[in-house]
Amino acid sequence: MTARHCSLPPQPAPAYPPGLAAERLGALIGGRRLWVNGTVLHYCFSGDTAGSEIAVPGTGRTRWVSWGGAEEQQDVVRECFEEWRGLGLGLTFTEVRDRTEAELRIGFQLGDGTWSAVGRDALRVGVHERTMNFGWDLTAPGERATALHQIGHALGMLHEHQSPYAGIHWDDEAVYAELAGPPNHWSRDRTYHNILRRLGPDEVNGSVWDPQSIMQYALPPGLILEPEQYHGGVYPPGTLSPADKEFVLRRYPPADPPRPPPLVPFRSVPLGLGPGEQADFRIDPPETRDYTVGTFGEADRVVVLFEERDGEPRFLAGHDDGGTAHNAAIAARLVKGRRYYVRVRLYSAWGPGETAVMCW
Ligand SMILES: [Zn+2]
Repeated sequence: MTARHCSLPPQPAPAYPPGLAAERLGALIGGRRLWVNGTVLHYCFSGDTAGSEIAVPGTGRTRWVSWGGAEEQQDVVRECFEEWRGLGLGLTFTEVRDRTEAELRIGFQLGDGTWSAVGRDALRVGVHERTMNFGWDLTAPGERATALHQIGHALGMLHEHQSPYAGIHWDDEAVYAELAGPPNHWSRDRTYHNILRRLGPDEVNGSVWDPQSIMQYALPPGLILEPEQYHGGVYPPGTLSPADKEFVLRRYPPADPPRPPPLVPFRSVPLGLGPGEQADFRIDPPETRDYTVGTFGEADRVVVLFEERDGEPRFLAGHDDGGTAHNAAIAARLVKGRRYYVRVRLYSAWGPGETAVMCW
């Protein structure tokens, strides 16, 4: 019996100008889905008032379907956020009730498939739309893995069986036929996009295939021709594998130091970052006025400004200069007596000079 599978919609293609150096482009593709470390991801369950019109087959009519899930469904997802957080990530998760405050908006619309936006792609989704959906009962045996897997997508992870390092030689037609049948009923496009399509080397979670990963589908016998030992199928345990943990901890290391150094107006601070690394600063504005936080040097990076509210950093503004000739700059009104955090994550740098950050 085939498992029901998560089916990701095609991810929006990044619009980078042609002619970027391969190394620069690779760093952008690999880094653009990741959140800056230290982000508090707010999630909400869409609730009874949220929903969408669904076509009723053969009638030409639509009916209203709520996204809301029962408390016991929501509890499975809450526990799974807690399991990821418990690894000691530098990201945290907080449940909120107002969906306009939430980066992650989670629905439980049966029959709409199970899927999630990947990492920061969630920010491109309208605030009244879901970024994640569960299309079947999460309280059934083994379905906890489904929630862990979707949160993996929300953290920026893609499917492990699509790793170019897997070296999987698929029986393509067997895969199409299997997924076209119950319970998935997928089109060829959907099957290609979620299974057969190979990811680029910059998109994968790790440098070797991890068949134990939570991001690996369980697959029945007869779909994989090579490697031979997977003729009989792939049966991941449905838990976070050691490589899953290593990946997220490398991308989202525990916040250290807990108190980032100050960024003092008009004083430029060298960043000294390697690819994928991040530097954090705090700003305690000496006066209330409009400030600019800007970066210098030949690099691609994302800069995010947070304001501390109720002891928690809340997103205020961000600028991703990846793939452009510009440096990131954020203009914002900062209030004396409040605290702000600046987080800079580097995709890649080139050229002889240091990269730096300053506020003025
Ligand atoms: Zn998936």
